[in-house]
Amino acid sequence: MIKILLNPKLNNRTYQDEETRELLEKTIQFFENKGKVKCKEDFHERAWYRDFLDFQKENKLFYKFLTPPEYGEEGCRWDTYRNCQLNEILGFYGLGYWYTWQVSILGLGPIWQSNNEKVKKETAQYLKDGEIFGFGLSEKEHGADIYSTSMKLIPQADGTFKAKGEKYYIGNGNEGAFLSTFARITDKDGNIEEVKDKSNYTFFVVNSQHKNYECIKNVCSSQNYVSNYALHDYPITEEDILSKGQAAWDACLNTINIGKFNLGWASIGICTHALYESLNHAAHRNLFDHYVTDFTHIKQLFMDSYIRLLSMKLFGLRGIDYMRSASKDDRRYLLYNPMVKMKVTTEGEKMMEQLFDIIAAKGFESDTYFEEAIQAIKALPKLEGTVHVNMALVIKFMPNFFGMMAPYKEFPEIPKRDDIGNDDFMFDQGETRGLSKIQFDDFSKAYDLYDTPNVQIFKSQIEAMKEFMTKATPNMKQADDFDFLLKSGEIFANVVYGKLILENAKKYEIEDDLVDQIFDVIIRDFSQSSLGLYASPTASKKQEEYFMKMIMKPTKDKKRFQRVLEKYVYSLIDNYEMTP
Ligand SMILES: Cc1cc2nc3c(=O)[nH]c(=O)nc-3n(C[C@H](O)[C@H](O)[C@H](O)COP(=O)(O)OP(=O)(O)OC[C@H]3O[C@@H](n4cnc5c(N)ncnc54)[C@H](O)[C@@H]3O)c2cc1C
Repeated sequence: MIKILLNPKLNNRTYQDEETRELLEKTIQFFENKGKVKCKEDFHERAWYRDFLDFQKENKLFYKFLTPPEYGEEGCRWDTYRNCQLNEILGFYGLGYWYTWQVSILGLGPIWQSNNEKVKKETAQYLKDGEIFGFGLSEKEHGADIYSTSMKLIPQADGTFKAKGEKYYIGNGNEGAFLSTFARITDKDGNIEEVKDKSNYTFFVVNSQHKNYECIKNVCSSQNYVSNYALHDYPITEEDILSKGQAAWDACLNTINIGKFNLGWASIGICTHALYESLNHAAHRNLFDHYVTDFTHIKQLFMDSYIRLLSMKLFGLRGIDYMRSASKDDRRYLLYNPMVKMKVTTEGEKMMEQLFDIIAAKGFESDTYFEEAIQAIKALPKLEGTVHVNMALVIKFMPNFFGMMAPYKEFPEIPKRDDIGNDDFMFDQGETRGLSKIQFDDFSKAYDLYDTPNVQIFKSQIEAMKEFMTKATPNMKQADDFDFLLKSGEIFANVVYGKLILENAKKYEIEDDLVDQIFDVIIRDFSQSSLGLYASPTASKKQEEYFMKMIMKPTKDKKRFQRVLEKYVYSLIDNYEMTP
């Protein structure tokens, strides 16, 4: 039986080395010792998580996990595999604890990507001292439109600069030792010139305790400090500047590439804890002479929830392999990475909605993890680019994924990447342009690894989709219709999702029963999105015919359903309960 879901009490995880084991187990212990009652009290009080920050400082947790080896002592490395293990644990116990770690990661992105050795050395020392960091990108008026950044860096006659302006929604803005701040360099009078290239963008660091730094307020009512901060003629010298021009722009997007991967992993942690809590509650609640877990519709809801979570995890784990194996010659991670952000987090939302239907009123109770989780799960698709923005990115890869614009390319087999190592390439990703030129391997090879009934049906759905793309190709007007594009993207995302899940199903020796049940869900999702396209006001008659062909249903196999339910889903009942 697979033990793929995190269960802190079973100690069922494999760790790469002793130090990692010790740090991750201590983190689990920190939360179990703190207990559910105190965690919930702090959540309701919106208490700043000083205890967790003291714990991480004492154990040099962020220092070990977020310092590249050349700037830290033995054991320091940036290793996506183990960082995801921590993401999952922090999401499991509370998104607030995850957020302070996550925005530190974002803040460190532009620093470790820069050539500023002085700031890098200071950063390593700050990490060792237990400090936290922040990423000052967003502004109140501009949302996703970072081109319009209005924070100014004004050159002074003596060769220094003054920073002026405000940032909004910036995590750790109350205490961050360094906040990597994105701005535009102005003329000497403080005017921003609208240039066509990216030459006036810049990243520099500021300290939240400086007298010219004002932490205005926490704009969210939460344990997290999501700040609005202002720089009042904050003095900046070349020594504080991380990057300028295209390099600053690239550092911005490449940092988000690193950070947004974590969102999917936080979702996995949240959903895992919520699943245990929902199962325990339903299994012990007796209504109309039935345990809740015995109702047919509840069985289906639990089945789908478990399968969605398993798929999220298999996809997320395979995403790590591609992230850690990425290079200038293999940029496939640029598709899989926004999928972990966008698809995995929205699957998390769907799963939590299904669990909410089961746990019902209990999910509102203040002493449950669920009450916190149902709010938290909503945040993840919205951070670091909304679902729409990420879908717009994912769609760019569609023609080459299907080998329609560029031929397929042979790549060396990507192994399971749980090895010990620093992910150097993440800080040397290079330019952010040319996405539509990225080549892929033939996705059908992954689908040929399995011939279970539902995988076969899904292959027919993919063929029908390809027919639509080649025989009723969207016209120019539809290509500009973002609603139509989004719906097409949803369908495409299922094909990519299935590919990585199948690759990992082999590596994690997932039984055929489970694989077939996974595709039971994927077929239904694909059909639902096809119906959405069919109903789209801009679909032509010919396209409507293809969309109807794409709607299929999974096989009916009651015995398989029962086997999976008993062996994998209901066997989790009473397996985990957080220490009160
Ligand atoms: C709790 C929290 C913490 C945060 N922490 C940080 C942080 O530490 N640092 C930081 O820099 N930022 C942070 N943010 C900001 C976050 O990254 C932004 O919320 C996000 O980038 C989207 O901006 P917006 O929410 O203002 O949406 P808007 O940009 O206002 O978008 C509005 C709508 O338009 C759509 N849209 C916008 N542009 C496009 C497009 N090009 N294509 C298609 N659709 C589009 C969006 O999908 C959305 O539906 C945080 C936000 C929150 C809520």
